[in-house]
Amino acid sequence: MAFLVCPTCGAEYHALISDPKTWYAERYPDVAVGSVVPGLCFDCFPDLAVGDIVDIRNHGEPLDGQTVSVQKIVLDPAGCGAIYFVRLPNGRDRALARCNLSKHREALDADPPAPPKDGYF
Ligand SMILES: [Zn+2]
Repeated sequence: MAFLVCPTCGAEYHALISDPKTWYAERYPDVAVGSVVPGLCFDCFPDLAVGDIVDIRNHGEPLDGQTVSVQKIVLDPAGCGAIYFVRLPNGRDRALARCNLSKHREALDADPPAPPKDGYF
């Protein structure tokens, strides 16, 4: 098991790893096995592109939970990151940081999976 903190959004999580000793040695040779290390979380790992549908998070009311689309991405030329302009349901654009956005998961909107057919078990 590895313990991680996302350097983008601050989420704390753990990852099941079959060989933690080797995993830590390869990635963090100066850190003791089992220590907390940086690692992008599931929500921050994917790159975002213009046109992506995203959910707003970690911002607070009334924006959290809104599903919006990325209209424009502006990168800092010095390399400190990007801001993402999203179109809110009221038609206004809003600039947000990557920690405020996660890719929308359509599976959450889909119908629940069909139950197994008779005789499956
Ligand atoms: Zn994150």
